Amino acid sequence: MRNTPHNLVGAMVRRAAIGVCLACGAVVGVGGVLAQAGQPAPQEQRIANVVVFLVDTLRADHLKCYDYFRDTSPNVDAFAAEGVLFERAFAHSSWTRTSVASLFTSLHPASHSCQDEPDSMSDKLVTMAEVFKANGYLTGGFSSNISISEKFNCQQGFDFFHYFEREPFFKANPGRKDPGYVPIEGMIPDTLKWIDAAGDKPFFLYFHCTDPHYQYIPPDEYALWSKNNPFNSYDGEIRYMDAFFGKFISHLRDKGKLDSTLIIFTADHGEEWGDHGGASHGYTLYNEVLHVPLIFRHPKFKPLRRPELVRQIDVLPTLIELCGLKAADATIQGRTLAPLLAGQPDPQPDQQFIQADLLYPAKMEGYSYECDGWKAVYTIRNKPMSQRIRPKENTLEVFYTRQDAAERINIQVIDPARGNALLEVLNNRRAAFAQQLKIEALKGQIDPETLQKLKSLGYAQ
Ligand SMILES: [Zn+2]
Repeated sequence: MRNTPHNLVGAMVRRAAIGVCLACGAVVGVGGVLAQAGQPAPQEQRIANVVVFLVDTLRADHLKCYDYFRDTSPNVDAFAAEGVLFERAFAHSSWTRTSVASLFTSLHPASHSCQDEPDSMSDKLVTMAEVFKANGYLTGGFSSNISISEKFNCQQGFDFFHYFEREPFFKANPGRKDPGYVPIEGMIPDTLKWIDAAGDKPFFLYFHCTDPHYQYIPPDEYALWSKNNPFNSYDGEIRYMDAFFGKFISHLRDKGKLDSTLIIFTADHGEEWGDHGGASHGYTLYNEVLHVPLIFRHPKFKPLRRPELVRQIDVLPTLIELCGLKAADATIQGRTLAPLLAGQPDPQPDQQFIQADLLYPAKMEGYSYECDGWKAVYTIRNKPMSQRIRPKENTLEVFYTRQDAAERINIQVIDPARGNALLEVLNNRRAAFAQQLKIEALKGQIDPETLQKLKSLGYAQ
């Protein structure tokens, strides 16, 4: 039976009563994951290495393989044609650090608490890189976004972590306009060198490029759509990122590592282009900023498109199962996607829900919850990015996304009972996540240099 808000609440109460699941069924215990691990894969299908390739600010529906009308992504499309593409993958927040913390830990924001601009990831969190490192992998992290750097304790578990400072790149490329971060072409050479230096040792790589984040300044040869229009330039930056993603894949193929490496292509959040009257991200929790690409490629999986709702927190438990990792000290709130990757029916349809937080007082404080085609967005208070948008306070909006994917018709106006039931589920789930585990983020002052880098990305205004 698929869950409606009412039977979800009932299921939560029943589970609490018998003391089974700590987070209302959201938890896949690591022990359970390991117990389900299948027989060793044939040698040619063995996953030796893992790459998580994350593109900042890339909304899924601006990729051709997600049915975009422009040819923004020929290399990602070719990659997707050989992989398993999740059509409905969602982030747990609409800004970088909260979202990436969930990806790294398989924890909801209510549990990892990394929510506001100065928040750093606690040392108590068990991260994806720490899990791989503890299992004998070489671990490398490369980021051009200051939000994902040592400044915010994101290097945990990486043998080698590198945040790309802008100055060396732009000194070496004096003709290039500075978008506020090192563009992807400045990241790829060091990343490939690190992969090559790994030799035959198994590695885990996290790659975080910031294109197509604001400012949108694609090099001329990738500005395929008319200039002086940020929407077009955003698409040009996607095309630019795509070209270097293609080079990255080609290098792995040339080195004979492509088919022994599981590559996951994804994003941390999307970008609004007037969908709800605004722009940018981190101001709302509508799906244009939460719907992200999620594509897995490895020869052991036949090319597929999966329609199920999946989440960032599902990536880590999937890797734990696929790679047979031991992760006894990790608390896992996602579920393994291995059955879906293998083309099987979804054994856990009750896990097809997404709960997102945005507790960023300078922009918005609120939550969202989507399950079974119904989506609730609860705004505690917000400061819209445009004066044309009316601020909200204690406002509940409800959308039937199955028929209103653009979230235009607020059902709450005509069916408040449904909205109130959804809000009750949302609140119960958040409380259950926090009850299972709550690790406070590290709070501190942002130093002036880091503040300047955040401002160049449009944060910390
Ligand atoms: Zn981001």
